[in-house]
Amino acid sequence: MIAYPDVSLFIDGVWRPASDKGVLPVFNPATATQMATVAHATRDDLDAALAAAAKGFEIWRKTSAYDRARLMRKAAEILRSRADDVASLMTRENGKPLVQARLETLAGADIIDWFAGEAQRSYGQVIPSRAPDVLQITVKLPVGPVAAFTPWNFPINQVVRKLSAALATGCSIIVKAPEETPASPAELIRAFADAGLPAGVANLVFGVPSEISEYLIPHPVIRKISFTGSTPVGKHLAALAGQHMKRATMELGGHAPVIVAGDADLDLALTTIVPHKFRNAGQVCVSPTRFLVQEGLFDAFSTRFAEMARAIRVGNGLDPETEMGPLANSRRIPALEALVADAVDQGARLLTGGRRIGNEGWFFEPTVLADVPLSARIMNEEPFGPVAVINPYTDLDAAIAEANRLPFALAAYAFTRSSATATRLGAEVEAGMLSINHLGLALPEVPFGGMKDSGHGTEGGSEALDSYLETRFVTRKG
Ligand code: NAD
Repeated sequence: MIAYPDVSLFIDGVWRPASDKGVLPVFNPATATQMATVAHATRDDLDAALAAAAKGFEIWRKTSAYDRARLMRKAAEILRSRADDVASLMTRENGKPLVQARLETLAGADIIDWFAGEAQRSYGQVIPSRAPDVLQITVKLPVGPVAAFTPWNFPINQVVRKLSAALATGCSIIVKAPEETPASPAELIRAFADAGLPAGVANLVFGVPSEISEYLIPHPVIRKISFTGSTPVGKHLAALAGQHMKRATMELGGHAPVIVAGDADLDLALTTIVPHKFRNAGQVCVSPTRFLVQEGLFDAFSTRFAEMARAIRVGNGLDPETEMGPLANSRRIPALEALVADAVDQGARLLTGGRRIGNEGWFFEPTVLADVPLSARIMNEEPFGPVAVINPYTDLDAAIAEANRLPFALAAYAFTRSSATATRLGAEVEAGMLSINHLGLALPEVPFGGMKDSGHGTEGGSEALDSYLETRFVTRKG
């Protein structure tokens, strides 16, 4: 296994320490011990990254879409060839099981490939004119240098969507990657550098997130912001972007409902959704959280759900037997304990879990609560951890009303054998993404984004490129 490195900044094509040599510690969440450090960018480093991004943009915008795509495909191949090493870094910094880290890395390569294809399909239009001698066309132009802020739950996936959309469209980018999980996103950037990306086109910084965002977002070099993280931070950054008339894509928190209709296939529902709930220890924006189960199935569903949760093997992600790793950072443990205690105080039934495991590392039991009152905090706040809440409903109207009750509207799930029910849910559940009878979210070619307080813009599908492009209209007579 490769050693976990001290992670540097990548500015203007050079890996370098912070100008004042400042660093932050990096911990292994399975042992709670410090493994390494990550460079802490100074204001001078940010200025250097901004100058590099401005220079890189001038190079990259003039590089043909064909050449951009070719380089991106090469980077994807390099990333694939290093997937085992990258995964072992990701598991040590984030905690997720090695198999999940490897899948995330390989999926990252697929995302790069897909956006490379889209790079060559950013067409403008010829708009029929009213006069025979007038030609009306639109051309798609890259918006400019991008500032991207990404979280620690999917260290590669969260970066690669923004990076690939930016590079496909001809933008340069400064990535502020997560300080908790810096090595695997650095390897993603390295794959592009090793593929021959010109200096300055992609830059990587770490530091104090608020200091970096407050400086980069208003800066005149930056033309677009993309942020993934919590709703309160997203609202703050979107407001800042708005003050400076910058484009913003916001991929924020969720509280995904799962409607299990009375005619659902119970085995299918459980075997599909239980592993999905506990994937990445529930630290997933599209994690299923509020299970709304038709009352006829409620007892069987909740009993079997709790049995399956209890059987999950929790441990160090490097152990091949492990199905769920630790939480990625220590602050989620008291946060989850408080949410569970509050629900139980308010009358919820704790079917399993609810506690930290051991004293070493940041492990938390797969947890299932049932009959949770709407006043409980967990019915209103995103748990962002391995906690499921299961409540019964009587008729579909009530289930839809509960699904739509919260300001979040990111992902939703449903299980039903009735196409009439599926059609109705597709029309009435307020969510950016709805997956019925299977897990079909987050493929490169399909939209990925939310509505309401879960943000705006999409990070997948052909529309993902739109927010990195300006549409310029040119009309010509004669
Ligand atoms: P947090 O709100 O402190 O941070 C979330 C992310 O935003 C982190 O990556 C952090 O570095 C970044 N961030 C925070 N303040 C920032 C600022 N001023 N400028 C730029 N970036 C900033 O929360 P946390 O404890 O790290 O994570 C828990 C919460 O974050 C969860 O409840 C969840 O809502 C949200 N989250 C969402 C996603 C997602 O995929 N949408 C991923 C990670 C975290």
